[in-house]
Amino acid sequence: MEQTKKGRLIIISGPSGAGKGTICAELLKHMPDLVISCSVTTRAPRPNERKDRSYFFVSTETFLEMVRNNELLEYDQHFEHYYGTPKKFVVDMLNFGKDVVLEIDVKGAFQVKQNYKDSILFFIEAPSEQALYERLIKRGTESEDKIQIRIARNKLELAQRHKYDYCIVNDELDRAVNEIITILNERR
Ligand code: 5GP
Repeated sequence: MEQTKKGRLIIISGPSGAGKGTICAELLKHMPDLVISCSVTTRAPRPNERKDRSYFFVSTETFLEMVRNNELLEYDQHFEHYYGTPKKFVVDMLNFGKDVVLEIDVKGAFQVKQNYKDSILFFIEAPSEQALYERLIKRGTESEDKIQIRIARNKLELAQRHKYDYCIVNDELDRAVNEIITILNERR
């Protein structure tokens, strides 16, 4: 029987505030064959977030139950909350031949790469620490002390960027998105 072509796992990661979410939304607009995985989190929804679209918002108890049942492809705990990628959706889509985008943090990206060696890792970085700070302020979803925690984490994540397949500087949205699309098309 002819083997159907499997989809590719595309991981978009990097510091919080670097613009990963916006980049993913643009990628979906330009590449209609992509699907994006919706993560599970134990953090509370932000005012602009939509249930079951931005995240599946669950209790810590439910999250840990999912971990015990091996329902997550990867997971991590940061900023006092758990975040994880539901496995079934990703595996089903890959088997269906769809390319799947995961927008996850650095630790999660490496967990996935270990199990899915062919996954394509993109590290998205802000043009500077100042730009990252300004974006987090403009987003208006975090208090000053939480922003400082995210800035500190940015430094740790930047130190890991050499392990990625590609580093994309999000200096200008259209340019950064086009760079990713070109890479994905060339690797087909
Ligand atoms: P936020 O709270 O700003 O939505 O996300 C905080 C961080 O968690 C971001 O760096 C985001 O990429 C990461 N994140 C979101 N979903 C997942 C996930 O499923 N797994 C992991 N490991 N990190 C995630």
